[in-house]
Amino acid sequence: MEFLKKLGIEGTNLGTSTGQKFIGSGAKETISSHTPIDGSQIADTTVTTREEYDQVVNTALEAFEEWRMTPAPKRGEIVRQIGLELREHKEYLGRLVTYEMGKIYQEGLGEVQEMIDICDFAVGQSRMLYGKTMPSERPRHRMYEQWHPLGITGIISAFNFPVAVYSWNAMIAAVAGNVMIWKGSEKTPLCSIAVQNIIAKVLKRNDLPEGIFNLVTGGREVGEWMTEDERLPLISATGSIRMGKEVAKTVAGRLGKTILELGGNNAIIVSKDADLEMAARAIAFGAVGTCGQRCTSTRRLIIHKEVFNPLKERLVEIYKEVNIGNPLKEDTLVGPLIDQQAIDNMQNALQEVQDEGGEVIYGGEVLENKQLDGGHYVRPAIVTAQNDWDIVQEETFAPILYLTQYSDLDEAISLHNGVKQGLSSSIFTLNIREGETFLSARGSDCGIANVNVGTSGAEIGGAFGGEKETGGGRESGSDAWKAYMRRQTNTINWGSEMPLAQGIEFDV
Ligand code: NAD
Repeated sequence: MEFLKKLGIEGTNLGTSTGQKFIGSGAKETISSHTPIDGSQIADTTVTTREEYDQVVNTALEAFEEWRMTPAPKRGEIVRQIGLELREHKEYLGRLVTYEMGKIYQEGLGEVQEMIDICDFAVGQSRMLYGKTMPSERPRHRMYEQWHPLGITGIISAFNFPVAVYSWNAMIAAVAGNVMIWKGSEKTPLCSIAVQNIIAKVLKRNDLPEGIFNLVTGGREVGEWMTEDERLPLISATGSIRMGKEVAKTVAGRLGKTILELGGNNAIIVSKDADLEMAARAIAFGAVGTCGQRCTSTRRLIIHKEVFNPLKERLVEIYKEVNIGNPLKEDTLVGPLIDQQAIDNMQNALQEVQDEGGEVIYGGEVLENKQLDGGHYVRPAIVTAQNDWDIVQEETFAPILYLTQYSDLDEAISLHNGVKQGLSSSIFTLNIREGETFLSARGSDCGIANVNVGTSGAEIGGAFGGEKETGGGRESGSDAWKAYMRRQTNTINWGSEMPLAQGIEFDV
């Protein structure tokens, strides 16, 4: 495979890395990377042992001594070079993302573009780690705040964004002065190794020490070493709500910090005043794109009863046109699910919703033919359902779109917010009152709320994350950088008196 060669990871048995060096190739335990396109094996990768993990942490702690004292704009310069290196490797890395994860090539490229964009953003941020100055109540005193790095940022990521989510965290954490230990998903180990290899080129060129950008590989157990480890003051974890609850408990137990980016159950309200054609296009992309495996995928539609039937019919028309198949082919819009477990989860969800009384009005089948042999392909499903059914309340990580009806906006908002998750949301309406109500304090309870824009596909400039069981973390743009730093309030007395705060007299 040409792209593996171009990424420098062909025929290797790599895994753990402290930066430029891959360590521990003698490890016995391995994870095989398989492509969901046809189920074939791509390569073996090694699993980090406990000894190697400790070696990585110790190297990272040493590197932190130097990195935290490197001026932030100089750290930004390293991230700028990483962005350039990613531009060079965009095509090959995008292809690997498609090959190992199964999203279509355009989306694979989009993921790498997101990495490049966050590098650019972080470079600018490296000159803007602003602290405020406040007037002191005491004469000849100056009070201000500064932001300092935390130390090692542990990053645990999910399979569905195998490269972008890492860089949202790592590039911002790096300009903030932290060193990083990344554990990618065990379902996409080669993507992590390829990214590490790209970053290594920049580290080498700049003669930087080992320990700034580190990689550990493996599953839950390696993740648990990180969450239990007091030497990692911050854990940024992306994945399922189940995982997030475990991580939150463990890290809180040692009073560490977390950024949690967990599951969503995202809905779009479609008003009778919507531009239905625009809505239908956004819904189709949100629901079937990435085969329903985005945290922001559209899972629920809450449709005004007057436009329910026309929209439903239009969606079925669009779904019939969607090309399902090999994600590397140009005309494919929907690739495979990640594995057999994902297929089983989808089939079980469809069975459960039908047992409740829901109707599958389109799709849902597992696709098996010669061309798709060995892959995990399904036809995206449209299902009528009630919002309060248990299965609709859950995030099934597959392309199932649940349709419900409403009569007035208050009812729609209450249905919309009537789930435990709170990531991305939207309303399609040309009625300004409806749009503004949806964005107001009594509207959507999600971290992301849009008008005439679907739920899927956020831009890096905004803070990304969600409320309730989605975890409450924010990553990427806006002032998300603050979560990777510690705030320090400083007061300096430049006078010759010793006045106390609150006017307290304390004569000694
Ligand atoms: P997952 O929870 O199975 O695994 C995610 C990561 O957590 C993996 O690296 C895994 O090894 C690790 N892990 C699992 N249990 C752990 C534990 N107890 N301690 C430490 N680490 C542990 O998720 P997945 O199937 O890879 O990804 C799909 C999920 O991720 C979906 O729920 C999706 O919505 C969510 N997701 C959320 C966002 C977001 O930004 N909100 C982004 C992408 C994916």
